[in-house]
Amino acid sequence: METIQLMEKLSNAFGVAGFEHEVRTEIEKLVKPLSDETRVDALGNLIATRKGKDGFTLMLDAHMDEVGLIVSYVEERGFLRFATLGGWDARVLPAQVVQVQTRSGKKSTGVIGCLPPHVLKPEDREKPFKIEDLFIDIGAESIEEATGMGVRIGDPAVPFYPFTQLTENLIGGKAFDDRAGCAVMIRVLEALKNAKLDLTLVCNFAVAEEIGARGARTAAYQVKPDLALALEGTIGADVPGVAPSRQPTGLGKGPAITIVDNSLVASRRVVEALEKLAEKTKMAYQYKLPIYGGTDAGGIHTTGAGVESGVLSVPCRYIHSQFSLMRLDDFEQTAKLATEFAQNSRAMLG
Ligand SMILES: [Zn+2]
Repeated sequence: METIQLMEKLSNAFGVAGFEHEVRTEIEKLVKPLSDETRVDALGNLIATRKGKDGFTLMLDAHMDEVGLIVSYVEERGFLRFATLGGWDARVLPAQVVQVQTRSGKKSTGVIGCLPPHVLKPEDREKPFKIEDLFIDIGAESIEEATGMGVRIGDPAVPFYPFTQLTENLIGGKAFDDRAGCAVMIRVLEALKNAKLDLTLVCNFAVAEEIGARGARTAAYQVKPDLALALEGTIGADVPGVAPSRQPTGLGKGPAITIVDNSLVASRRVVEALEKLAEKTKMAYQYKLPIYGGTDAGGIHTTGAGVESGVLSVPCRYIHSQFSLMRLDDFEQTAKLATEFAQNSRAMLG
């Protein structure tokens, strides 16, 4: 499958943290033919394994979940109050179109209601909205009508921003954090489909990263890897108004290697192996500037007796918002470097 079709499928799939069923079903169809074994664990992680010659296990991880909203109360007149699941900036939420997923899997489209400036008091026009003041309008006029549409307290919601190709090299959509990493991992499995592996490769499509790396931690406990690499769609901030010293990554500079973030000091050996492999393939790469964000590797490396871990990312602008942007050349290079790592990490680090 071409990268554009793959990213379209993954980006459009629903998967708020803890509600990953839909995106997992899509990914499972894709990775089953590429794996010796796939299984879904108690928390909902999808674990795909390629068995190698003997004991050494490399765990790759990308999270399926996305930041979203959850219905917290239904007002008399049918408006839905909500809370957030994962890190949202309240300033980007008003006036956005969302889809609420009901228990039957049906989706209701709504808009986060936002008062027009005409009815705001002059002093309120300058103030940001607070999440507790916002509501989703799905067109229901009463609790009964909302319930009749299948909507209940506890239903999750995501931004409704269908995948779009902007230019030949640039795509946009929701949830690139971390469907970009999921797509990289699928690419690695594809590239190694007919290869003889000298290690066992376990690809964990994790749940619930956005609320504390919960899936990755419990998956690592089961997998007991010797080495781990988390694959992410990370913060690209090469935009006007951000000083270069505060841009964690930039688009068009290739894959981003993490040295340290809020959840992990990456293994020096993993960093050096990634540098060497990128240089061997004459690929441009960048360092993700310390110490922005955190990833599943934060959960993995402190599991059990500890796991030597690193992170490799595709730079994406505007993550944790409705619509992220990613360059296809950055993606392809990241997939290539991740594949090189899977093929050579045992010889280099085993
Ligand atoms: Zn992420």
